[in-house]
Amino acid sequence: MPTIEISCVEVWREISNYLDEDISVDLRERMEKHFGACAHCTAVLDGTRNVVGLVGDGTLFQMPEGFNKRLYDKIRELPPNVPRE
Ligand SMILES: [Zn+2]
Repeated sequence: MPTIEISCVEVWREISNYLDEDISVDLRERMEKHFGACAHCTAVLDGTRNVVGLVGDGTLFQMPEGFNKRLYDKIRELPPNVPRE
């Protein structure tokens, strides 16, 4: 079965689930492939990791420029003690 490429927007939408390992193996593989080819999404992934860590610490944070608002809202919904990797 061919790998269906996903767009940057889809990656951003799922990125917090990706970090929570709350996505299908299939989607995870597609996202990892995307991160391998897309420096922008890799940067967003790194930024999200940092943001999730800060939220977990209850620290106020500044969203990076251009950060996806829906992702921002989703991160804000996360429980205070999100397990780290
Ligand atoms: Zn991308």
